[in-house]
Amino acid sequence: METILKDNGPVLPSKGKSREWIYAKKPSGKFYNLRQWVGYSLLLFFIIAPFLRIRGNPFLMFNIIERKFSIFGTLFYPQDLHIFVFGMLTVLVGIVLFTAIFGRVWCGWTCPQTIFMELVFRRIEYWIEGDWTQQKKLNNGPNTDARAFKKFLKHSIFIIISFLIANVFLAYVIGVDELYKIIIDPIDQHIVGFIAILIFTTLFYLVFAFVREIVCTTICPYGRFQGVLLDDQSLTVAYNEKRGEPRGKQKKGEEESAKGDCIDCELCVHVCPTGIDIRNGIQLECVNCTACVDACDAVMDKIGKPKRLVGFYSLGEIEGKKDFKKSRTRHYIYGVVLIALIVGMTLMVYNRSLIGGTLLRATGSTYQLREDGTVSNLYTLQLINKSGKDIRFTIKPDDHDLKIQLVNEINELKKDGSAKLSFFLVGESKNFTKYKTDVKVSVMSDNKVVETLKTTFITPPGD
Ligand code: SF4
Ligand code: SF4
Repeated sequence: METILKDNGPVLPSKGKSREWIYAKKPSGKFYNLRQWVGYSLLLFFIIAPFLRIRGNPFLMFNIIERKFSIFGTLFYPQDLHIFVFGMLTVLVGIVLFTAIFGRVWCGWTCPQTIFMELVFRRIEYWIEGDWTQQKKLNNGPNTDARAFKKFLKHSIFIIISFLIANVFLAYVIGVDELYKIIIDPIDQHIVGFIAILIFTTLFYLVFAFVREIVCTTICPYGRFQGVLLDDQSLTVAYNEKRGEPRGKQKKGEEESAKGDCIDCELCVHVCPTGIDIRNGIQLECVNCTACVDACDAVMDKIGKPKRLVGFYSLGEIEGKKDFKKSRTRHYIYGVVLIALIVGMTLMVYNRSLIGGTLLRATGSTYQLREDGTVSNLYTLQLINKSGKDIRFTIKPDDHDLKIQLVNEINELKKDGSAKLSFFLVGESKNFTKYKTDVKVSVMSDNKVVETLKTTFITPPGD
């Protein structure tokens, strides 16, 4: 597929500089207001989600260390890997579909990196150092006490916020209870956790104070995929070249038709947080934040021209191709696949067992012949409680010719707990014609089967 995106690379530094620092003008306008509503609502959600509890479980938790995940209060364990893979696939298709229709709106409106950068850190910068021209003046000016104080204040606040974000991040990764322990207990009892907080604080501080838009333009792989995901049907922030060109201010006595609607004020460039000029075409660096749409709309209002010289367009519309027709076939196909995945995912979660188990034959054993003429096989059963509450259980073979004989009797699993049982399956060898017979063992709770595990029962050959 031919890519419609230009990759202009990062904003090129001027001679002698390793990087051109981007001073983005403070945005304002209808889209920015809407973006603030969306952004701050999501920010609130990001912050409180790991602290909220449903049935005693965190609303969201991704505990990689203990391999325990809580999604909307439902706990998932490594035994639920298939649900996770399915979930990841669903999210991936969702992203592809969303991007194919709306372009990179995720980046500019909902990505945590953009929300923290544009709606938290940059706003603090505007508050302390002023708008972009004042920031530029401050950075290029003499090293005065006032400048040192502003820099000290800004970076101190950045570090405090980075520390808070690191704590919230850890609440997602290790759970709120573990985080409280790190905060409350003496440091030497949680030295690893404490170091983790310091590392993440440093990382977030460096990203938001210095790396900034490079995360979106160079580091993030999603941005690099845009070329494959977008086509001439996708909606994206674009400049209406046909309407805007030739750009420039109308000179006295010049015919109105001699110039397009773009007055070349460059406001759309000044507000861009990734430092690009949208008039150069749709570019990989554009995160669809719509700051340039607001800026240009304000200019169009002032000069009495219709809005949306910069706006949401599909490339086909902009180019005014004769054979261009709005087609949604690809979107419908993605939509059908996505709905199928969501339905499959819902069924998987709904039918998910409350107890996860792994049943294995005791290492190195086959069968034992008993004095009473019966045959037994020894097994170990590892159970894990996924129900989010204490649970009582029993185990029984599905085959009526087999009986169970427990080596260690355990019939209760504590919330989030696990247990290891050993037991024999005992049967008359005459009832089994094959050397290896497939059998099932069910785990019962409240008279319901909550998990069924497969294994084999071995009898002496020739019997
Ligand atoms: S803000 Fe609008 S008028 Fe000004 S340079 Fe950009 S596209 Fe042209
Ligand atoms: S070009 Fe416009 S929409 Fe794209 S990142 Fe820059 S300001 Fe945001």
